[in-house]
Amino acid sequence: MKRFSVKLKMTGWLTILMAVLSLLLLLFMLSMSNEVASTTAMTQLSETVRSNLQQVKMVDDTLQFGEGFAFSRNGVSTLVYNKNKALLAGQVPVAFTADEAFQNGLTRLVSTGEERYMVMDLWLPLGWEDGLWVRGLMEVPAQQGATRNLIRMAMVALPVFILLAALGSYRIAKRAFRPLDSITATAAAINEAKDLSGRIALSPGRDEFSRLAATFDHMFERLEQSFEAEKQFTADASHELRTPLSIIKGACEYAEKYDETPEERQETITMIHRQAVKMTDLITQLLRMTRLDQGTELLTLEWLDLGALVRTCCREQTDLTSGLHLELQDGIMVRADAALLSRLIQNLLENAVKYGRPGGGVWVSVGQTERTCLLSVRDDGIGIEKEAQAQIWQRFYQVDPARSGQSGVGLGLAMVRQIAQAHGGSMTLESVPDVGSVFTLHLPKPDRGELS
Ligand code: ADP
Repeated sequence: MKRFSVKLKMTGWLTILMAVLSLLLLLFMLSMSNEVASTTAMTQLSETVRSNLQQVKMVDDTLQFGEGFAFSRNGVSTLVYNKNKALLAGQVPVAFTADEAFQNGLTRLVSTGEERYMVMDLWLPLGWEDGLWVRGLMEVPAQQGATRNLIRMAMVALPVFILLAALGSYRIAKRAFRPLDSITATAAAINEAKDLSGRIALSPGRDEFSRLAATFDHMFERLEQSFEAEKQFTADASHELRTPLSIIKGACEYAEKYDETPEERQETITMIHRQAVKMTDLITQLLRMTRLDQGTELLTLEWLDLGALVRTCCREQTDLTSGLHLELQDGIMVRADAALLSRLIQNLLENAVKYGRPGGGVWVSVGQTERTCLLSVRDDGIGIEKEAQAQIWQRFYQVDPARSGQSGVGLGLAMVRQIAQAHGGSMTLESVPDVGSVFTLHLPKPDRGELS
């Protein structure tokens, strides 16, 4: 049984069940039709014999028949015998060879050779101890016509009916199992092509298969995300680590050959240390971004006063000059991960200083609209060309790497945007070259119910 598919098993069982039910129904109908036929025949026999009996008379020892008498009517042959069972009138059918004793008023079946007859006798008394036997004989066909028709019809209809039942149930089973086939095919395709972008994409429904397909699609999406994030991490890390590593390698080789004084050696060690710190920072940032991508870095959400958080971040940012201007509306509460949001603010502040005008200003404001909480960081620095504005959010993109100096690798804004998105928010930028830039975080405002 195990080698058959569930579809075939279901079809098999349904077909067998249908066949058994149909046969049982046929047998029932046959027995009913026989019953009805024999009851009808008996009534017919009895009525014919009784009506003939009333037409039989004996006048002066002569047998006389009324007008309504018929020796053969409705398939019934009527015979008249005297009390000694000698035939007086009527013709015994040739096939009726039985020597059947007379029994008054009893209808019975008598078999003679091949044939079967229904027999009924009635005693017609004529005076004292004399009388006549009136016998009715009716041939019972081996199989009644209706029964024969029924069997004939069943012989044709039953196989067709069972075949239709089998085809129908196979089609239904096939259709019902189609989503499962699609799930299997998609999973197999993903497995063979190692391409996680395939989806089952069943039309949404509430049945078990639709739910299963949706769960699988969700799983494929998570797998793809995490696979892509891992791929990105490997590519980014190997690409970005190459530069500091080759600097370290070069510095070591140079030191081995030429560094002679302790000062020279110290300088090399400082350089190696700086590159090692840069590599550590890079890996830490990349790991955090990868975890955010994968969804493995879960947000620790808490209620935060946005203005207070900005104030703390500005206090920690030691390189912020006296040109810092705060315009913070207090009491704007957001539900966010404090560490990540601090990271976002720090990145924006660092950039404002890094790409700001020497001795210029940094303006930080916190406010709100009807639906959004806003945090803006503005500087009056070099600004960003229109063409570069869309690209600065990409990993490792730098408008002018020389300007970013030692402290940047082009990951800061990518992370800013990722953190904003992880909180259901977004980032916008307005910038004019040589005038300055405004980076704004838009966070969805919590519902009133959520706040209370
Ligand atoms: P980086 O490590 O280079 O600072 P970021 O991702 O933080 O990387 O920024 C990407 C690029 O966007 C920077 O290299 C810089 O060219 C540009 N940029 C970011 N912030 C500013 C700003 N406030 N003013 C002008 N340019 C900026």
